[in-house]
Amino acid sequence: MTIEVIFWTQIASIIGFVVALFILYRLLVEQKDATIQLQKENIAYLKDQLTEAKSQSPDVLAQKLASRVKLFEDEVKRLDEDKTSTQEQIKAKEAELSRAREEAEELTKKVLHARELLSDFLCPHCGAPLAERAYHSESVEYQGREIDVDHEYTAFECGYEIIDGEIKGKCKNSVAKTST
Ligand SMILES: [Zn+2]
Repeated sequence: MTIEVIFWTQIASIIGFVVALFILYRLLVEQKDATIQLQKENIAYLKDQLTEAKSQSPDVLAQKLASRVKLFEDEVKRLDEDKTSTQEQIKAKEAELSRAREEAEELTKKVLHARELLSDFLCPHCGAPLAERAYHSESVEYQGREIDVDHEYTAFECGYEIIDGEIKGKCKNSVAKTST
């Protein structure tokens, strides 16, 4: 093999290497762009979900239902007072009203259920939110054997504290309430 052949083979392999590197780089950039695009879409989707959740929150729903019930009640009253309205019209309105009431009752049940689920995270006295919940276990010697003892610490923003099921801190809000 002449020097010249070796030289050109080396040049070719260097060019090949650079081309491969460039392709790899392009691929990576494209992948990154795709990932960013995907993230953007995810964020947009989550924002939509959040807006929807906000408009569907129990409070907003309850308000909507309450105003609907009020509207129906007014209408039934108006129809009742209006001597020209027929019995059928009144009956139809009353049926609508009772449907709206049922919906409102259903919603109240759901809200109560949600509160029940949340109760673990709220002070049982005043409803203040959970400030801290920590678990830790320690090894103690018991009758010559090593056993793990689990400790649970729960604290609420109002000062109510529970350590291993025992009340260690009082709820400031309920103390204030009972003293006044
Ligand atoms: Zn409390």
